Amino acid sequence: MSKPVALHVVWLRNDLRAYDNAALFHAVTAANNDADSAVLAVFVATAASWQQHHMSTIKQDFIRQRVRQLTVELAEQGVAMLALEANHYQDCRPVFAKLSALGMVALYSQPEYELREQQRDRQITADLQAAGVAVHWYDRQCVMPPGSILTQSGDTYKVFTPFKRNWLARLQQLGVRCYPRVRAEKFYDVSAIGEQLALPAMQNGDNSAAAWPVAEQQILEQMRQFCQQQVADYQRTRDFPEQAGTSGLSAYLAIGVISAQQCVNRLQLEAAVTLEQDKSGASVWLSELIWREFYKHILVAYPDLIKHNPFQADTAAIRWSNSKTLFDAWCQGKTGYPIVDAAMRQLNQTGWMHNRLRMITASFLVKDLHIDWRWGEQYFMSRLIDGDFAANNGGWQWAASTGTDAAPYFRIFNPVTQSERFDPAGNFIRRYLPELAKQSAKTIHWPHNKGTPAEYWPAVVDHNDARKITLALFAEVKKPNA
Ligand SMILES: Cc1cc2nc3c(=O)[nH]c(=O)nc-3n(C[C@H](O)[C@H](O)[C@H](O)COP(=O)(O)OP(=O)(O)OC[C@H]3O[C@@H](n4cnc5c(N)ncnc54)[C@H](O)[C@@H]3O)c2cc1C
Repeated sequence: MSKPVALHVVWLRNDLRAYDNAALFHAVTAANNDADSAVLAVFVATAASWQQHHMSTIKQDFIRQRVRQLTVELAEQGVAMLALEANHYQDCRPVFAKLSALGMVALYSQPEYELREQQRDRQITADLQAAGVAVHWYDRQCVMPPGSILTQSGDTYKVFTPFKRNWLARLQQLGVRCYPRVRAEKFYDVSAIGEQLALPAMQNGDNSAAAWPVAEQQILEQMRQFCQQQVADYQRTRDFPEQAGTSGLSAYLAIGVISAQQCVNRLQLEAAVTLEQDKSGASVWLSELIWREFYKHILVAYPDLIKHNPFQADTAAIRWSNSKTLFDAWCQGKTGYPIVDAAMRQLNQTGWMHNRLRMITASFLVKDLHIDWRWGEQYFMSRLIDGDFAANNGGWQWAASTGTDAAPYFRIFNPVTQSERFDPAGNFIRRYLPELAKQSAKTIHWPHNKGTPAEYWPAVVDHNDARKITLALFAEVKKPNA
């Protein structure tokens, strides 16, 4: 009887890429060093758990499409991949128990930061270690992993600017390293093992993400072009939703088709980014990538955020009015405020929303409609293709003035002046609100004045009145001894 193959298993989750993948690199290297070893990549779709986390259907489809493509890309590198369909995170446990019985000698993966994901990983790690399987975690979600950027007294930064300063100093010191592409020397035949794992093959999605390309090389090229040709203008164009002034990479970063390390590396190569805090497009884009890391560091340091608690505890007592009717108007893009409505329709129709509009719509929900930010956070998650707990929670708590480094509660966006400033010709609004197509650049931001030619959804609230109510709601909880 032939000796069983020693399997080095890579469990792919939020690092769905073949290049700069630490877990894959180490598994392939280990397998190539031993004639009796082989490498196997595994992905387990867990639709029921995804739904519990309010993951949008477009993101679910996007993941499935990317996994199918990755299976092809990995095969070209000599790595076999098994993509399986389960329901819940707990269903992963028997898969790895079975793999361990079938000869797995080591597991390689990248940690996830959310609570249930960590529980699942702890259980599986314990099971495998008890069975004598080595377990290797490579934390590469961030260029600087959580816990590595701390204040002088060893605490997590709660304010972005000093975090960024420290982050940049660390980058200067350490540089950024990307893992090379690897090739497995022998291809493992998965046909026999697939049947023994007692889970069906991963299903196709609903094709809702069809507009989003999923080939890794194409996305790396998009990133390269952005760094080469567009990033210089980023500071000037990034706030205008009508212009393609941002990278459009968030969905790919969220599921790890590309890594933040690759972005920083490419930025340094193409745009000669200075590590000073200047106002060049490249530096400002780098800052956005650092915001992404800031929120992940905060999430790991304050796991209570996963339980939907506000960062500023006193704001938990705010008495939101939580009108279901107003919430529905906001979700459907029928508030009567064109910029808010156009933005919500962009989200509903495409699964993505421009950052400036995320700030405007989030502020509007909380500070004009007085609805608990958690309702909006969940709605965004259920619609976004780039839904990411840390960035979404951070963005919502920033807008709601309940988070770390949040906008002060008395700074309240005026949706009409924001619209005039960031969509001056009204072209973005026209794209999503055909009912306002004939409005002039002057009237489109507020089509409610007498003599305005088109009828539009009536404004659900008066901004000035709403603003006063917000100030009172916050004043109640911000009072000493309140
Ligand atoms: C209320 C609210 C909710 C948000 N929810 C999410 C979310 O679920 N997922 C998500 O990836 N981003 C979220 N953001 C941040 C930001 O809006 C998006 O990352 C950005 O619009 C994506 O477009 P882009 O890839 O073209 O970004 P670019 O401007 O090209 O930025 C490059 C990358 O930096 C990161 N980034 C940029 N801005 C931020 C930020 N403010 N916070 C954290 N990371 C950032 C993203 O990974 C982005 O792809 C949210 C912001 C707000 C205000």
